[in-house]
Amino acid sequence: MSYVDEVINLVVEKNPAQPEFHQAIKEVLESLRVVIEANEEAYRRDALLERIVNPERQIIFRVPWVDDNGQVQVNTGYRVQFNSAIGPYKGGIRLHPSVNIGIIKFLGFEQIFKNSLTGLPIGGGKGGSDFDPKGKSDREVMAFCQSFMNELYRHIGADTDVPAGDIGTGAREIGYMYGQYKKIRNIYEGVLTGKGLSYGGSLARTQATGYGLLYITAEMLKCNGSDIAGKTVAVSGAGNVAIYAIQKAQQLGAKPVTCSDSTGWIYDPEGIDVELLREVKEVKRARLTEYAAARPSAQYTEKKEGAPSVWSVKVDIALPCATQNELHLDDAKALVANGCMAVCEGANMPTTMEATEYLQANGVWFVPGKAANAGGVATSALEMSQNSERLSWSFEEVDGKLQNIMVNIFHNLDDAAKKYGMEGNYVAGANIAGFLKVAEAMTAQGIV
Ligand code: NDP
Repeated sequence: MSYVDEVINLVVEKNPAQPEFHQAIKEVLESLRVVIEANEEAYRRDALLERIVNPERQIIFRVPWVDDNGQVQVNTGYRVQFNSAIGPYKGGIRLHPSVNIGIIKFLGFEQIFKNSLTGLPIGGGKGGSDFDPKGKSDREVMAFCQSFMNELYRHIGADTDVPAGDIGTGAREIGYMYGQYKKIRNIYEGVLTGKGLSYGGSLARTQATGYGLLYITAEMLKCNGSDIAGKTVAVSGAGNVAIYAIQKAQQLGAKPVTCSDSTGWIYDPEGIDVELLREVKEVKRARLTEYAAARPSAQYTEKKEGAPSVWSVKVDIALPCATQNELHLDDAKALVANGCMAVCEGANMPTTMEATEYLQANGVWFVPGKAANAGGVATSALEMSQNSERLSWSFEEVDGKLQNIMVNIFHNLDDAAKKYGMEGNYVAGANIAGFLKVAEAMTAQGIV
């Protein structure tokens, strides 16, 4: 049996009931096959793959807090410190009822390669909790965040592990967590990113993932002889990534015509009104039905089994920006049938493996999330730099660096794919480019 297959089997056997983690390991290792076979003897001797698929540290803890009725609630907190070969652990905190250790491990594993691809010195980690901020009062969210940090603080630090936002963890939650860290440690340091501008946050961090997604999409199209201007775009999600992807797409001359949330989706043939969308989702924290009510050109479809999804709309480019496994094989077939030329992932692993394979087999340019959404973490690393320097850079300075980083990421993965005879396979290119740097650092640092 090949080394790759041995390690995949080992992961499946030792980590039962963690399908998302298995999926991430399979996707990455499968695409690294040619690199691993070329170095098999050394990697086997050093158990490099067994080490890279095992987190350096996994922390699971109790998070008790008191709700507005005086009732004590108990959630579970997680921090997986996956790999620190090239820098301090870095990755977001996801607050969502679906969170479990398998999901945090899948996200943490992907984060290693994504962070490596940015070219910046950051290792891979991820955290979260099954707490649902939806429908909670500000006081309840604060109580949860403080309790979460009461344990997490001992495991993190500006040079150790620097968490950030993710689904359910926005500016409000980061603020409460940062305040509690500072209170406990009595240190004012850049221990979290995604902070408010008044206390160490970076300009352009809010926009970074969505903007970065469009910068890499535009570069990829340009290198393939096409142009983003004039293209019709389907976007899923209506959160941080989706909103700023829609905004930047419009700035680059494209026309995003869809967005979605967990209960339904919008088709707006006139193009999404991004200011209205921000008002509905960022200010009112309301459902997309409010967008439809305020915009005559918008059609709303409720999410239910068998109903069409955003991917049924005829578009040139699809940008999944909501959550994992939201673009299935049937959706990929619909996109291909409608002549879609590119799929670039704003969310983490939104496309199922079968859908990815189908898209690639049918000539659709596919840029995986670990490259396409790396703008968020890259700008977080820029926030860390600003905190260390005790300076803040202008919006244009950060945005300019972000643009360069995304263009470089595209060329890194494009070159890696070409070098290993897989031209145009950006999934393989991203995994290879991200992996080689981490593998080299791990080898240089010995068996630790
Ligand atoms: P948000 O919480 O801001 O938004 C998520 C959006 O997706 C919301 O509109 C939400 O709907 C929708 N959504 C969530 N679950 C589902 C579901 N099961 N079906 C349909 N829609 C759903 O998160 P972000 O925009 O920050 O993150 C989106 C994705 O991007 C995640 O995969 C995240 O890991 C990834 N990512 C985010 C980065 C960032 O900087 N924010 C960086 C890199 C990756 P509703 O409004 O109903 O909750």
